Amino acid sequence: MKKRKRKLKMKGITYILTIIFTLCILGIGYLGYTLIFKDNHKAIFLETIERNNYANIDYYAIYGIHMNLKGSFTLEEDVNDLVLVLKNENEEITIPWELEQNNQNYTFTTSEYINEGIVLENIPIGEYYLLIKTIGTDENNEEVIKYYSLQNQTTYNDLEYYTLTKDNKNNKIDIEWNTYEEIPTLRFTIKETTLPDDVYDITIDPGHGGSDPGKTACSDGSVTNSLGYCNSGNLISESNQNLQVALQLKEDLENLGYKVILTRETDERISIYDPYGSATTANDTKSKLNIAIHHNSSGVGTVKGLEVYIANDTNLDFASLFVDEITTLANTATSTKQLYRVSDGIYQRFFTEEEILEDDVQPSNKTTETIYYYYLREVGGISTHATNDGRYIPTYSKNEHYNSNNTAESYLFELGYMDNYSDLLNIMQNTSGYAEGLATAISKYLAQEE
Ligand SMILES: [Zn+2]
Repeated sequence: MKKRKRKLKMKGITYILTIIFTLCILGIGYLGYTLIFKDNHKAIFLETIERNNYANIDYYAIYGIHMNLKGSFTLEEDVNDLVLVLKNENEEITIPWELEQNNQNYTFTTSEYINEGIVLENIPIGEYYLLIKTIGTDENNEEVIKYYSLQNQTTYNDLEYYTLTKDNKNNKIDIEWNTYEEIPTLRFTIKETTLPDDVYDITIDPGHGGSDPGKTACSDGSVTNSLGYCNSGNLISESNQNLQVALQLKEDLENLGYKVILTRETDERISIYDPYGSATTANDTKSKLNIAIHHNSSGVGTVKGLEVYIANDTNLDFASLFVDEITTLANTATSTKQLYRVSDGIYQRFFTEEEILEDDVQPSNKTTETIYYYYLREVGGISTHATNDGRYIPTYSKNEHYNSNNTAESYLFELGYMDNYSDLLNIMQNTSGYAEGLATAISKYLAQEE
């Protein structure tokens, strides 16, 4: 009996050793395959890139979930077609662009809008190169395909991007300027990752707080007295209303699976430009979106309704979704205000000549194409022409992201007018409706872009 047992044991050990041996052979084989054949395929693909003629990239930036590039190149031969592609040895993804030709000179941009361009969320796992593909014909009328690479002419370097959390998963994208045998390349490497603790999907910024209540109103619609108190009804502060909507929105977005951070979670005063301030948290946490929440007051009581403020060079797709969802789910209407209006419920405010002359630092670095609200201008870095380069110290500290080409897409909401009684009643009673409208627009926008 004893002997037999031992024999069985020996058999077991031999069995396990055979499995380990087989796995080792398979492992070595796979390693050999990847080293020789896979890298060989990649090398063969990279060898197809043209040498000594590259497109010059003089601008590139990530804003929200989009990346944009601008550049130029020269082509001596005539071609039938030109496309921008993300390519590797197996796949080729066409990237939309706007191309202008002037004889042999070409200029291009991936979009005229900062919130359009290469959708970073969409790129499958893998390693890709951004290339210009030309399709021409030779003297025998045979098709000739050529690939041209890109050369960095900016002072900016590599970028890293974390995709939005989906089913508890994230990808990390490394966008790197490299060379392959003297050919300059722009390489996108997409890998599955675990989101670092300090990286978030969305930042919500409830305006004001602490010693700064923002706008105020009395709950029965009466006006505050000269000391700022209500003779009847309760004092309603904008800072608290902003916070209530923000807390509800955070919960709604978290229920949709997103990782969300608030610039404040209590009634406290926070800085604008210091780390984790109102203008910096979104970029300190690599958030893709920044949602600034406010309530308004006109001083006359007749103006009412929702206003969504957008940055410069922004297409209206996302803002329109916000307008549609908030007016429906919060049972409100778009604002009656005409000033700065670009579309129903959508507003865009730039500095005026007079305001530029009143800037604390002269000559001012603002122009009439600079966005007025810091929530939009400073959060967007170079995409939104941020201006706080440290010149306002000691009044404000420097915006550490003012010169960044990797920033959050930002919207400013004036959800309603606290000095209009019908708006005020809705603001007080329908916090969840406003939050639901915001959350629904965000999820719809991100879903259609994926
Ligand atoms: Zn406000």
